[in-house]
Formats: sequence, C-alpha cells, structure tokens
Amino acid sequence: MPANNNAPLTTTSDLLLPFIESLPNAVVIVDKNHKIVLVNGLASQMFGYAVHDLNGADLSTIIPIPLRNAHRNHVDGYFKKPVLRPMVEEKRFSGMRSNGQEVPVDIMINTIVLDGVKVAMALVRDVTYQRELEARLTLESLTDEMTGFYNRKHFRTQLNAQLSGYVRWGLPTSVIMFDFDHFKHINDQYGHAAGDLVLTTTAKLVRRELRPLDVGCRIGGEEFAIILPNTNLGDAETLAERIRKMIEQTEFELDEVSFRATATMGVATFLPTDNSYDSLMKRADNVLYQGKAAGRNCTVSQNALSTTDSTG
Ligand code: GH3
Ligand code: MG
Ligand code: MG
Repeated sequence: MPANNNAPLTTTSDLLLPFIESLPNAVVIVDKNHKIVLVNGLASQMFGYAVHDLNGADLSTIIPIPLRNAHRNHVDGYFKKPVLRPMVEEKRFSGMRSNGQEVPVDIMINTIVLDGVKVAMALVRDVTYQRELEARLTLESLTDEMTGFYNRKHFRTQLNAQLSGYVRWGLPTSVIMFDFDHFKHINDQYGHAAGDLVLTTTAKLVRRELRPLDVGCRIGGEEFAIILPNTNLGDAETLAERIRKMIEQTEFELDEVSFRATATMGVATFLPTDNSYDSLMKRADNVLYQGKAAGRNCTVSQNALSTTDSTG
C-alpha cells in the first residue's frame, strides 16, 4: 500500500529515541496537556536538566516566565490546528535554562503519534551566535566607524521616535547641531590626519558630556548632531555653549604640532507645529547657518530664528 504523506508519523518511544538522539538538534516532545513526554540528550544539554527530570515535567519549565502564558496559548492553538511551521510567530523566541538564563532559539514543530497519543515534536536550535551576530551587524550599520558615534541614518530614526513622544506626551526633545569652522583650512594646513584627530577627539570629549539617553551622531563629514530627550531649549543651549567652549579650549596635537579648532552650534527644539522631524532638523540647520554668517564659533538657538522672522 502506498504511504499516506498526510498522515502523522506513528511510532513508539523505543523506536523514536535512537532516531532523535541522532539528530543535530535538541528535540522536545510535548502532549496536549503541556507535559514533556520525551527529550533527547541535546535538549538536556541545552536546558541544563537531566533527561529524566525533563521527561514528565511541565513544558513551562523550559520557557522564560514572561513568555509562558503566550506560549501556552500557542501550544493549545497548535494542537487545535497543527501545521508544519515554526510554532511561535514572533521571530524572537527564547527557552530558559535550569539556571534561569535565557537561550534564544528557533523552533520547528510537527505532529506525530507516539505510543498511540498525538503529540507535538519540536526541533529546537540554539541561535545565540546568530542573534549576537545580527545585533553586532545592526549596530555597525548605525555607527560611524571613525568616531564611534551613531550615523545620520540612526539620527533620523531616533529623532523621529522622539517626535512621537513629543506629540503624544509633550516630552520636549532638543537637538544640538554643530559644524567645524573652516575645517578645510585645518586639513590644508595640518593635513587630513589632523582633521581626523579633531573629529575623533571631539567625539570623545562630547561623549563625556552626554547622559545615557542622549544620542551623539556624526551626520556629515565634520558635522555632528546630538539628540537630547527630555531637554528644553534653554538646557540644550547651555550644553551647546559648554561643548563649544570645550572645543575652543582644546589643544589638538599631532606629530608635535599643536593647533586649535572651533565649531558653530545650532540649537533647536520640537514645536507644536512640527509634523515631521525634518522641521526640527531644518531649524537647527538654519540657526547653524546664521551662526556661520555671524562670524562662526558661536551658539545660535531657534529663539534667534523667531526674532529674525518677526523683525524681517
Ligand atoms: P565652514 O566654517 O563654512 O563650515 O567651513 P568649512 O571649511 O568647514 O566648510 P565645508 O563644510 O565646506 O568643508 C568641510 C571640509 O571637511 C571638507 C572636507 O574635506 C572636510 N572633511 C569632511 N569629512 C572629513 C573627514 O572625515 N576627515 C577630514 N580630515 N576632513 C573631512
Ligand atoms: Mg565646516
Ligand atoms: Mg560642513
């Protein structure tokens, strides 16, 4: 008789055990009452329990506490309508080891009939390495290699997120934008490496001034921007002045030649009329440009912009 491909595999524990021991994945077999009925040695290693402790235990034993309820519902749903697919829809799923430590996993699940009972067989793969790699690549794609600051892409994403906070809860967010003055001269006179030194040193100095939630970004060649959540315009101006003076007072030194640099700062904050983070960026850019026109090495805030607007 030809095999019926739709029928679940029907087997016994005795027959299945040597097979699941030969698989390269952890295997956890569960009945519809959430009881673990059979595991292999790799599952015992992954979760840090002896095989005989897992067999017969409730499935929640190996599920992180915050995920247990949702996972229980998934298991119930699965038994009602078994489909061969990753059981948990959310991509980020974790198991829990006996020491409470979470282990990120991928799960494939299938229904079989084991010793006459319909059960779910899960193949569980530890994806710690992949998740860490992914996190590192994501961070790298948002970071400027030279200064370690975030890049323009991340600046935009974060500013956009802050705009939602401002619109929903009225949380003020301000931005300091700054651009070095006559940076071409520095490169021309002292060399490109000297220019680079100014950028990396400044990033280090600025980082020391920032709170954990502040986001320091290099948004252009010699242009920086700092997002200051929960910060009003006045406080942002104060910080901008502090950074401006710090740069002005720094003596940069390369190959026994020392030199100085200055920067012009533009400061802006969200306004009720802003319907895009772009509006704030433009204001910061405008006041920065005003500072350049006014002679550079100064801080100009969006207050100046409204004064200019009303008088001109
Ligand atoms: P301004 O005061 O008007 O800003 O004058 P500026 O010379 O700084 O003007 P501009 O913004 O046009 O020039 C920026 C220069 O910064 C040009 C570019 O060669 C240099 N630059 C951009 N990125 C880097 C970098 O990573 N390293 C170095 N050394 N120089 C850079
Ligand atoms: Mg410049
Ligand atoms: Mg520039």
